[in-house]
Amino acid sequence: VPELPEVETVRQGLLPLLGSRIVAAEVFHPRAVRHQYGGADEFMSLVNNKEITAAVRRGKFLWLLLAPKQALLVHLGMSGQIRSDIKLDDLANPHLRVRFTLQSSSTDNRNPLQYLDFIDQRTFGYVTIDKLIPTADGKPGGSGTDLPLLPVRVAHIGRDVLDPHLDIEMVSNKIANKRTEIKRVLLDQTVVSGIGNIYADEALWRAEVHPQAQINSLSISKIANVLNQAQQVILDSLTAGGTSFDNLYVNVNGESGAFSRSLAVYGQAGKPCQRCGTEIARISFMNRSSAICPVCQFVS
Ligand SMILES: [Zn+2]
Repeated sequence: VPELPEVETVRQGLLPLLGSRIVAAEVFHPRAVRHQYGGADEFMSLVNNKEITAAVRRGKFLWLLLAPKQALLVHLGMSGQIRSDIKLDDLANPHLRVRFTLQSSSTDNRNPLQYLDFIDQRTFGYVTIDKLIPTADGKPGGSGTDLPLLPVRVAHIGRDVLDPHLDIEMVSNKIANKRTEIKRVLLDQTVVSGIGNIYADEALWRAEVHPQAQINSLSISKIANVLNQAQQVILDSLTAGGTSFDNLYVNVNGESGAFSRSLAVYGQAGKPCQRCGTEIARISFMNRSSAICPVCQFVS
């Protein structure tokens, strides 16, 4: 499952496409445009002849701003990829769902056409054209834009942990009023977005907080520390190009991530804790597996 670092890596990979114009779009599977009310025909007509002006991300949501004011929203779901490294004479990927043909803005480019492919084996992801609405706080919609606008479908998503406009102190105070467990809040994308299961586990280990710790047992500075650790672990992952373990997720150039080799708890059950040597344990919480150090993350 692509997490924030992978989506950010994808976003950065799309930056060379800014200024390009979509000159054609083909939809090969209706499920990939299931959120477009008018279906594939409407989708294709709305993207046609639009210039890509920005590549923006909030949490795991990614959108291309299309001039004048529309968003081409891309949600990668469980297994989606967006690839721009496809050669015009390459055989199409069997899981190709939507293909955009782009025309480069640069005049010195000898081959100005290129493909942008949305590939998704299971088609849990989707692409859609969405309206832009003002952000609630009047600040930029996400990474990659200064415009205080975001797609309707992203309006309920909180600012993500890498967003420079995220106010950690304010969010920590907001979290402190909740009567639930810390990991549940970390995974709630409406509070702070972009923290998936892997990063929640890693951040909680770094902050020495048990995933099931009740919020009311934690000080505001402890909550802020968990968020700061989440920010740091995601930055570390980004430096390494994402976490992916398998071939399901690859970045825009077809490379998979290397950060998985430096995870402290996630997927490390049975191995010694890097801090105290105790065996990392797996516990079940929220119908998923959490990895903890039972000593460092002791909950009283
Ligand atoms: Zn430990």
